[in-house]
Amino acid sequence: MNFKIALIRGDGIGPEIVNEAVGVINKVGEKFGHTFEYVDVLLGGCATDAVGKSYPDGTAELCRSCDAVLLGAVGGPKWGSDKPAEQRPETALLAIRKDLGLYANLRPAALRPALAEACPLKKETAEGGIDLLMVRELTGGIYFGKRDKYQTEDRGLEATDLMAYSEMEIERIGRRAFEMARLRRKKVSSVDKANVLETSRLWRSVMHRLAEEYSDVAYEDVLVDNCAMQLVRDPGQFDVVVTENMFGDILSDEASMITGSIGLLPSASMGDSAPALYEPIHGSAPDIAGQDKANPIATILSVAMMFRYSFRLAAEADAIEAAVDAVLAEGWRTADIAREGESAVGTRRMGELICSHI
Ligand code: NAD
Repeated sequence: MNFKIALIRGDGIGPEIVNEAVGVINKVGEKFGHTFEYVDVLLGGCATDAVGKSYPDGTAELCRSCDAVLLGAVGGPKWGSDKPAEQRPETALLAIRKDLGLYANLRPAALRPALAEACPLKKETAEGGIDLLMVRELTGGIYFGKRDKYQTEDRGLEATDLMAYSEMEIERIGRRAFEMARLRRKKVSSVDKANVLETSRLWRSVMHRLAEEYSDVAYEDVLVDNCAMQLVRDPGQFDVVVTENMFGDILSDEASMITGSIGLLPSASMGDSAPALYEPIHGSAPDIAGQDKANPIATILSVAMMFRYSFRLAAEADAIEAAVDAVLAEGWRTADIAREGESAVGTRRMGELICSHI
């Protein structure tokens, strides 16, 4: 088969990790008889430098002409919050998610067997195994609500951010979570703050309706503060965790830490139509950019998700995941996951090792 992939290399370590991911895609192509066409898409700080805007005109159309989008990472201190919105990389990320209709963000957080010792939780907690999928609503809620800042008479400046959710937005992300749970261990934990927020009460009522419809899937409500606690107390209890945008932003970073390293975790963002966007959960790591130190595994596992969900090629996805596990089982580590005294390999070598196991 032939696939067309948009590559957003981005800023910081983005180009380095995308290079290794492309190496893996090509190796899978060789082994399984597929061909790939790549379309380079400029987005983020590098786009601001090149054309004055972080989200150049035509970006969404270019991505839509492809079967899937792979993104390294964007951002860095050079394009900080003092810059106008259209020059900031974060603006571009929000815009592309919205324009491609990517309302569901899927982040698996699984403790890889060879790295159980990297889990910062108690040994017996880690031994129980951690394998959860965070399903975060990505295009609604407070990150997209109306913002305001105004002068008050007696309290100085005041700012507001509006959090809004419609039944339609809640239902489509909820369905996605239940469908994913059916492919896994058939349990959905829906996270909200229904004891305080009206949006959460609406969220909960829609989820309850879906829970009746998907009666083969176990369902529970979890308050967001309790969920933050349970993730470090007993993460093994979770299968699919579904939540709104801001809660998901925070909880998925927490979930990533319990699996050892931010450099290991992939993600996928999807809508109702192609293309989906695949990216590591970490940022552009400007502190190690250009030094051959970045861990490419999160990006390579994002590629595995691309094969599984966008190309519907499960054997190819399994081969990539197995190659990553084999390299880790042989003891190879990048600096971020090496323990004290262990030697580390660089970005390029880690990429080569994974390719050699496919
Ligand atoms: P970050 O994830 O870039 O880095 C946090 C820490 O983790 C750093 O010490 C970094 O060196 C390390 N790290 C991250 N990825 C790594 C990898 N693959 N291998 C080894 N170590 C890794 O988060 P940050 O420092 O808060 O943000 C840096 C920039 O990235 C900011 O401009 C931020 O806005 C941006 N960012 C972009 C995205 C994205 O593109 N989707 C996501 C988050 C942050």
